[in-house]
Amino acid sequence: KREEVPVEVHHIDPKLVDRRAIDVCSTLKEAGFEAYIVGGAVRDLLLGLRPKDFDVATNATPEQVKNLFRRAFIIGRRFRIVHVVYGRGRENEVIEVTTFRAFLDSSKAEQVQGNEKTSKAALAGMKLAVDESGRVLRDNVWGPQNEDAARRDFTVNAMYYDPQTQIVVDYHKGIRDAQKLVLRMIGDPTTRYREDPVRIIRAVRFAAKLSKKGFTIDPKTAKPLVECAQLLQEVPQSRMFDEMLKLLQTGHALASVEQLRKLGLAKGIYPLLDVVVERADLPFVQAALMDTDRRVGEGKSVAPSFLLACVLWQDVKAGWDARLDRGEHPFPALQDAIDEVFNLRIGDVSGRGKLAADMREIWVMQPRFEKRTGSTPFGMIAQVRFRAGFDFLRLRADVGEVDEMLANWWQEFQQADEARREDLIAQVR
Ligand code: ATP
Ligand code: MG
Repeated sequence: KREEVPVEVHHIDPKLVDRRAIDVCSTLKEAGFEAYIVGGAVRDLLLGLRPKDFDVATNATPEQVKNLFRRAFIIGRRFRIVHVVYGRGRENEVIEVTTFRAFLDSSKAEQVQGNEKTSKAALAGMKLAVDESGRVLRDNVWGPQNEDAARRDFTVNAMYYDPQTQIVVDYHKGIRDAQKLVLRMIGDPTTRYREDPVRIIRAVRFAAKLSKKGFTIDPKTAKPLVECAQLLQEVPQSRMFDEMLKLLQTGHALASVEQLRKLGLAKGIYPLLDVVVERADLPFVQAALMDTDRRVGEGKSVAPSFLLACVLWQDVKAGWDARLDRGEHPFPALQDAIDEVFNLRIGDVSGRGKLAADMREIWVMQPRFEKRTGSTPFGMIAQVRFRAGFDFLRLRADVGEVDEMLANWWQEFQQADEARREDLIAQVR
């Protein structure tokens, strides 16, 4: 049932709404379309948080949206969405515009997909999106707003806000749940986890994020999580990896670990995540997780390479020590130990070349920090990844793995002028 909730009830502060999102909505509405701010942004606005990004949902097709804006790009083959770009360079801001999608349960989706002989034109008339071969793209079938709402995950993620009228459109009692501080899956939770097992991880992520606002997860939403977790085996590794990073790098890493344990998901979600949860109480890993949360909270960037380098450091050290004991040369021994850790823990997640290279650099720098003679320190600070390597060293010093003085020395060396740097090197014997 469609409910229109006025500002007197939802109390969204218009000052928290991005002016570019307002602009996108009013441009679409002036052209005769429906347009709303949608999803996570509405949820955050309701909770008095400033959303980190704004998505807009409309009944205009991607082509129609694109034609209304000077800088708009249709992206994605499977999920065709439009990026409307504002500003320039580093300041630029993207508003993501999606067309209302139909809710297809599995049976309906098969019906449509079994119908491949239907001509492309006929399908287009049915407002279905088709790829070059004429195949219907699931999840890309346009539909009315109520179906768009029903295919979303949680009730608090499925509301629409019209910035002009300040009305929130709510089909699934999202307003009530936002007020009661409940994270609730739309529909039958087990069915929804089967449809898309990634929702299991999303449940953990939002439970963690919203726990800071006092939210709890609805018991019916929580209950099937454990028995459904095995479905995650079928999710492509690259998507699992990305979802893991969202748990760890959106400012709620410690809370996510806590939720995983609470919900009985400490093991079995994804091998690398299991390692994180297992080690989260070790001082070094805990410090890294806390540091990541703090940085995100301060609006600073975080690199996945840094956190993962922290989590897997003990493996690298163990492998390296074992090789040194066997009398291998330190440098190749370290490289081999690192290779072994990658093979064992990271696996074949394609497109992770840069991540692995960055992790390797951070690790390889560590023994070099101990060498502070000749021109070595100058070479070190000239490295692109020096800062990450140094932050890693600082964290090791914080937990007593290396001498505090070593980290302090490098801190000073970075900031010093040329003459002082020579002094600092001379002091080391
Ligand atoms: P965040 O603040 O972390 O970005 P979000 O709610 O905006 O949270 P997104 O991943 O950006 O999350 O997704 C945007 C919206 O799309 C969600 O609010 C939800 O309505 C819908 N959505 C995303 N992924 C799914 C999914 N797997 N199943 C159902 N709905 C989804
Ligand atoms: Mg979002």
